Amino acid sequence: MTTAPAMTKTQLLIGGAWRDASDGGTYEVRNPATGAKIADVAEATREDLNDAVNAARRTFDAGKWASMAASRRAKIVYKIAQLIGERAADLSLCEVRNNGKTIGTAKGELGAIVDCFEFYAGAATKNYGETLPPPLPAYLANTVREPVGVVGAIVPWNFPLLLASWKVAPALAAGCTIVLKPAHATPLTAIELGKIALEAGVPEGVLNVVTGSKGGLGGWLVDHPAVDKIAFTGSTDTGRIVAAAAARTLKRVTLELGGKSPSVVFDDADVDAAVAGALYGVYYNAGQCCEARSRILLQSGVYDRFVEQFAQKAQRLRVGDPEDPQTQIGAITTSEQFEKIRSYCAIGAAEGAQTLFGGGPPELGQSFASGMFWNPTAYEAKSGHRIVREEIFGPVAVLVRFDDEAEAIALANDSEYGLAASVWSSNIGRANRVARAIRSGSVAINTPYSVFPGVPFGGYKASGYGRELGMETMRLYSETKSVLTYIGEKPMDPFRV
Ligand code: NAD
Repeated sequence: MTTAPAMTKTQLLIGGAWRDASDGGTYEVRNPATGAKIADVAEATREDLNDAVNAARRTFDAGKWASMAASRRAKIVYKIAQLIGERAADLSLCEVRNNGKTIGTAKGELGAIVDCFEFYAGAATKNYGETLPPPLPAYLANTVREPVGVVGAIVPWNFPLLLASWKVAPALAAGCTIVLKPAHATPLTAIELGKIALEAGVPEGVLNVVTGSKGGLGGWLVDHPAVDKIAFTGSTDTGRIVAAAAARTLKRVTLELGGKSPSVVFDDADVDAAVAGALYGVYYNAGQCCEARSRILLQSGVYDRFVEQFAQKAQRLRVGDPEDPQTQIGAITTSEQFEKIRSYCAIGAAEGAQTLFGGGPPELGQSFASGMFWNPTAYEAKSGHRIVREEIFGPVAVLVRFDDEAEAIALANDSEYGLAASVWSSNIGRANRVARAIRSGSVAINTPYSVFPGVPFGGYKASGYGRELGMETMRLYSETKSVLTYIGEKPMDPFRV
């Protein structure tokens, strides 16, 4: 294990200036792998939140950022990508120590974050309007895209900087101003993003970063009348609260919410590939992943072979020190999440699911005695079980048997969620038929990967609405204005008076 990072005391970024909370309040952030305190973080008050929103509002209304040449905004967004790339090693380590994820996972994310800012740097100059067929002969009609205004960006703790970048990059590219609120437990890389944005040339007041309490701060942001749009990622329960609250001020809202996504494995699949993909699909980031393929649906003919290989390989996964490059499963980020995993494992046992392996924390020795870790776990279960229906958000797989294609589709869709899916089959016709029938925002065929800049990502059903990562995301940070020009020779005189 490497040595603990230097303790830091962080501040709020409001209107381009770093400052303490108005009442001086702070809270402790700890490394979930070791329990060591790593930072005292400023706990924003309602007054601080007001100041941040007002700074974003004033900056937006002053118009310089929104009306800046798109090519210039693009260069600034691209510069953010470059600076993040240059600091990827430090940012990865910061994420590991704050979140508990493995260093390998964090490094991969940093690459994806650079890609995201680069993609939206390019998108800034392509947020096109349209020239429309004239509605009357003597008319020109066109649309222009204008930034939606002040964006409140609320992100969870599982991919702190990655999910912030999915919001901040397109919002900047579109010309919006932003108040970014990271999760209470994982604010450190969002603060670094604030520093990098200023260094890249983002004007003061365009990106504001507020850190603090679990519910209050996000709720105040959603309620604030000077915010035009909320871009939210988090649980479905909180998403419902956010949508209802945002309706009071008619804010635009995009919601990236929970999931219970399936890996559907047919008899004709390449079993080695399906096992490897399904393992990654569910245990990546210790299962704390919205698009985790936490339901593994297996056709009867492949069931036994798959289960044997899956169990063998899962038990070879290394759980432990997140800073060791050999580790595949790091720490669980919060104690609430740790207890949630524990309680779902108890529920699974009580409702009669068969434990295949795991079900508890590993023994890791003294250095990690205060850490929160959970072994890869799998249950053979039935579709009615709660562990099959509810999002656990930990390294817990449920395996369910099916007989034919129709049953596979019915099981895949038997969920309130609809975020992602993987289909494993060597029959390309079948794989595409099933992909078409599954009601989810992404379907990956013969791969667990479905998240790339340029490929829209988001949910059907209770997994939310709106899409991130795509070109269409630019629309969600824009308003469409229709401009109609009369070009007739004679002046208009509709009343002829
Ligand atoms: P959460 O809903 O508890 O919190 C998410 C964010 O909302 C946090 O910043 C939190 O402080 C804030 N918040 C809490 N109450 C609020 C309120 N009343 N008003 C406004 N903001 C509020 O979720 P979490 O536990 O941090 O994250 C895990 C959840 O996020 C899982 O359900 C996971 O599936 C989901 N998630 C979805 C995606 C996606 O892209 N669909 C990605 C990652 C995580």
